Amino acid sequence: MKFFVLFVFLVQGLLALEYDVADVSVANGKTTVITFAKEKGVSYDKVTHGEGSYKIFEHPLDKTKMYALLPMSYYQTPSNEKLQIHYKQNGMNETQEVTLKVKDGNYAKEQIQVSNEKVNPTSKAVKDRISKEYNAAMKVYGTVHNESYISSAFIAPLESKITSDFGKARVYNDSLKGYHSGTDYRADVGTPIIASNDGVVALVEKRFYSGGTVLVDHGQGIYTCYFHMSKFNVKKGQKVKKAQLLGLSGASGRVTGPHLHFAVRINKVQVDPLQFIELMNNKLLKEI
Ligand SMILES: [Zn+2]
Repeated sequence: MKFFVLFVFLVQGLLALEYDVADVSVANGKTTVITFAKEKGVSYDKVTHGEGSYKIFEHPLDKTKMYALLPMSYYQTPSNEKLQIHYKQNGMNETQEVTLKVKDGNYAKEQIQVSNEKVNPTSKAVKDRISKEYNAAMKVYGTVHNESYISSAFIAPLESKITSDFGKARVYNDSLKGYHSGTDYRADVGTPIIASNDGVVALVEKRFYSGGTVLVDHGQGIYTCYFHMSKFNVKKGQKVKKAQLLGLSGASGRVTGPHLHFAVRINKVQVDPLQFIELMNNKLLKEI
């Protein structure tokens, strides 16, 4: 009898952790999700990918499941990436490897002409302001709350034509300055902009590049970002409901005309916001 118990224990210890990855092939700048059905004796910690570490959280709608979002950096080159699931089984630290195929997002290139001062800011005051704003934003994005504030699907921040997709390589006045980090919507100055989902307002500020900026924390490392606004209807620290008015669109910051720039950050990583919403709504937040 004792032998039998020991045998079962050993076999259980050797059993692989069960998981489900939404897409085993994912493009740079896109996100996938790994879900786990909670197993007895297992405590879930995180998934690591190179320098990246993504905490495994309780599913926002289904308490029998755990999940981790896996955002692929825009700068990730196509390859077979090895990710490690970290967990404890019967008190022992364990890891399990998952391979994800990262493919090329084949993003287009875009030429943009703007006033030179906005491309290569030369004054020390402006440079200091930019770095201060960048650091403040990264501090916000790096703040990960264990609880989720969401309980239903994400929505678009307004209904309008998309004028520029996520991921276009941006060439400002002939010099490459990264890529388009969000989705642009056509919006005349004064168009109402609404929260994509429930959350807490993490930042409300007029910034050099992004102009009138609102960041909403949805919990578990997920942030939505609303740029170039002309008016704010929310304050930092305020709880907001999905579809609540955040403010009015504008043409503030580094822009060529009025529009809304909508972005998503997961654990500091910028990802395609529309693909993120589709993934969340179809895989994690569909009615159960
Ligand atoms: Zn934009």
